[in-house]
Order: sequence, then structure tokens, then C-alpha cells
Amino acid sequence: MQTTVFSQPGQPGQAPHPRPAMNDAHAPSYYAATALPQPARPPLRGRAEADVAVIGAGYTGLSAALHLAEAGFRVVVLEARRVGWGASGRNGGQLVHSYSRDLDVIEARHGVDTARALGSMAFEGAAIIKQRIRHYGIDCHFRPGGLFAAINSRQVDQLAHHKALWERFGHAELDMLDARQCEAAVGSTRYRAALLDHSAGHVHPLRLAQGEAQAFESLGGVIHEDSTVLRIERGEPAVVQTADGELQARYVIVAGNAYLGGLVPELAARTMPCGSQVVATEPLGKRFAEILPQNLCVEDCNFLLDYFRLSADRRLLYGGGVTYGARDPAHVEAMIRPKLLKTFPQLRDVRIDFGWTGNFLLTLSRLPEVGRLSPNIYYSQGCSGHGVTFTHLIGKVLAEALQGQAERFDAFASLPHYPFPGGRLLRVPFTALGAFWYDLRDRLQR
Ligand SMILES: Cc1cc2nc3c(=O)[nH]c(=O)nc-3n(C[C@H](O)[C@H](O)[C@H](O)COP(=O)(O)OP(=O)(O)OC[C@H]3O[C@@H](n4cnc5c(N)ncnc54)[C@H](O)[C@@H]3O)c2cc1C
Repeated sequence: MQTTVFSQPGQPGQAPHPRPAMNDAHAPSYYAATALPQPARPPLRGRAEADVAVIGAGYTGLSAALHLAEAGFRVVVLEARRVGWGASGRNGGQLVHSYSRDLDVIEARHGVDTARALGSMAFEGAAIIKQRIRHYGIDCHFRPGGLFAAINSRQVDQLAHHKALWERFGHAELDMLDARQCEAAVGSTRYRAALLDHSAGHVHPLRLAQGEAQAFESLGGVIHEDSTVLRIERGEPAVVQTADGELQARYVIVAGNAYLGGLVPELAARTMPCGSQVVATEPLGKRFAEILPQNLCVEDCNFLLDYFRLSADRRLLYGGGVTYGARDPAHVEAMIRPKLLKTFPQLRDVRIDFGWTGNFLLTLSRLPEVGRLSPNIYYSQGCSGHGVTFTHLIGKVLAEALQGQAERFDAFASLPHYPFPGGRLLRVPFTALGAFWYDLRDRLQR
């Protein structure tokens, strides 16, 4: 994984802001530099046993592990790198409800019953996160409120539709903002309208993962870092092998998402790893009030969307773009700065302190792929961009399934999934071509 850290000097006359020290166990992001102190978590060595082996300490794995530990299971999490090393420790930190394809698309493609089943869970992930932050006292800088911002008239219509749709599924904490109100909430003239979701919000994503890991450990859960799972031997019990150890477990949950590689070939077959890039500016001090005075998080409504928010120390964290096939771009700042300046031209003199990339997993339908590889080996992957809340929901749903209540699990597991057109060789250019068309449409519309 190639990532970039920027160290341009401050502007003349400005005192340079000291940069937090890097934590080189993670991608060199702003989050890694401001992470929670963590205990040592030695690799798995020798033989061990558990009720449940979880592969991957991102939100999917940690959420499931914590729910299962709360229910009294003996759970061991095996993480190839560090807790939160993957997308969960690098993302935009935005708590966005529902799924990467919304409930109207689910209803049209999969019928009313599926839409009703998934709709009844679409707003639960954020509630789980907030409950955990409160219950376990996780210091992850939660701030309420998120905006979906429309750039053209088609998107304004979409927002009205979106509001009516979510209200139909019982989510009432939404307000439409007109262009003037929008400019007051976001110091940019780019937006024609916005939908304010009072129950959304934003967090420091790596701290959230680390806090959940510590909550899990406080209940007796065990995490081994530097413990890449190299093989899963199917059976009852299943056996999970790392370079130096072997874990026997009644159940396994595979939660490696975009970083799973080829461990389970059938899980790689219908998905595509993709990258997204984020930069963090220097702290803006009082200038934060020029851009996000209410400290809301924002994502626009473009197909290739931009997302941004303030950090606790008032940096602007700005992300956007997608690299299909998860190429690691060499120059994150060169990719993201033009997007940032298009939204906030007033920040042209502001220094970029950090830039990093992270991978998420795309499915063709943009809906998550959830299921069983065998009766006791479960997986969830591919939330296709919006994953912070979904991963927390699915952790709970997986824990329910292991306790014999599989109704909610089955609602996700019944969704069909297909390979990307073009096969392994051409799926990346084909998908990029499709995205290019949607991006062009967004750019041309007024
Ligand atoms: C840059 C970026 C910005 C994003 N912004 C947002 C946002 O603002 N809001 C939102 O809702 N979503 C966002 N997302 C998506 C969201 O972050 C992800 O959907 C979510 O974090 C996925 O969590 P996960 O636990 O499934 O995967 P990950 O967090 O990637 O965790 C998988 C873990 O499994 C480990 N692993 C893999 N293979 C093995 C193995 N063989 N053995 C042991 N361990 C293994 C990896 O090391 C990794 O730690 C963003 C994603 C990216 C990349």
C-alpha cells in the first residue's frame, strides 16, 4: 500500500502547525497520527480454541466479535496487520444510513418483502455505533448531523425523493435546505440544495475501531495482530491457520473485505477492490467557520462523490474519487486538492498535511454480499462505499445468526450476486467506463 504524507511548509507569516507524530503501524493518515493508545496484541502462536474465530479486525469483524462477546461467546479475532488497519481506520468517518443502493432500487429489483426486511434495518447501524460510544465511553470525536448536497437540478429532485423514501421507511429526522441555507451550513456556492440528516454524524474512524477492540477485550475477547490467516480448513470444528499458529473454532466469520486477497477464491469472484483517497489540511483555526460552521459532515450527490468534514482539531478532511481495481495512486494530494478547491476556493493557501488511500469492496449490485461458505463459516463483504453503519449492523446480524436467529441474516443472504462483466481482465476498464459516463452526466447537468 503506497500512501503519501505531505510536509509542505506553512504559508509566509503563518506559524507552522506542529504535525502529530506518525504511528507507522498504520497507513500514514491523520487518523493514525491521532489514534488511541493501544495495548500490545501479540501474534497467534501454537494451538488455541474458541467458539468463534473472526478473520479481520475492521468494523465487520469487531462489531460481530463485540456482539458475540456480549452474548457470552469465547471469540478470538485474527488480524493480519493492526486493529483498524483497513478501510475502517482510514475512511471519511461519515455515518450514512441505508445501503449503497437505496431502498427504492431494492424494492424494484428484489420486491416489496426484501425492501421491507432490509428497510427495517437500514437505520440501525448508526444507532449501534452511538450506543457503543456511550456504553463503552469510546473517545472517537462523534459529532451529530450530516448533509447530502445537490449540485444540479436532477440531484435536487433526487433529494426530495430520497427524503420521502426514507420517511416511508420510518426515518423522520430529515430536513431539506435550500441554496441559501445550504451556503450557510457549507461555505460553498456549489450546492443548489441539501438534505440534512440530524441522526447521521461523523467520527474519528480509527479511534472508533480501537475503542470497540478495547471494549471487546474488556469482556474477555482476544485479538491477535500480525496474524494473517493463510488457510481455513472447513469442518466442524473449523481450523484457521496462520504462519505460527492454529485456531480451532465452532464458527468462523470471514471479515477481510477488500484486503482479503485470495484466501477464499469464491469471495473474490464477484467483487472488485476499489480505492478512495482522502487528504487532511493543516488545522484551520477560526477559519473553520468559513466552511463548516455547524460542524456537519457532507457528501455530494455525484456518482463519483466528494465527502468532507472537520476533524476535532479543525482540519478539513476531504475525500473523493474512486480508483477501480484499487491501484495505489502515487500523488494523493494532486488528485484531491483540485476537488477541494472546486468546493472551497477560499482555501487555496491552506497546506495539506496528510494524504492517504484506502480500499473498499465493490459488488456489481452495490449491495453487500453476505452468506455462509459452509454451515459454520460465515462472511460479509462488499458494502460498496457506504459501510460504516452497515458493518455495525451486520456484526449484530451475524451474531444473531450464530445464536440461531437467522431471519435477518437470511434477508441479506438471499440477495443475488453476479460477477462484473469483462471477467478478471476487463472488469476494471469496463466498470471505469461506466463510471466515466455517469461522471460526465453529473458534470454536464446544471
Ligand atoms: C477512503 C475510504 C473512505 C470511506 N469513507 C466512508 C464513509 O465516510 N462512510 C462510510 O459509510 N463508509 C466509508 N467507507 C467504507 C467503509 O470504510 C468500509 O465499508 C468499512 O470500513 C469496511 O469494514 P470491514 O471491516 O468490512 O473491512 P476493513 O476495515 O477493510 O477490515 C478488514 C480487515 O481484515 C484484515 N484481513 C484481511 N485479510 C486477512 C487475513 N487473511 N487474515 C487476517 N486479517 C485479514 C485486514 O488487515 C483489515 O484490517 C470508506 C472507505 C474508504 C477506503
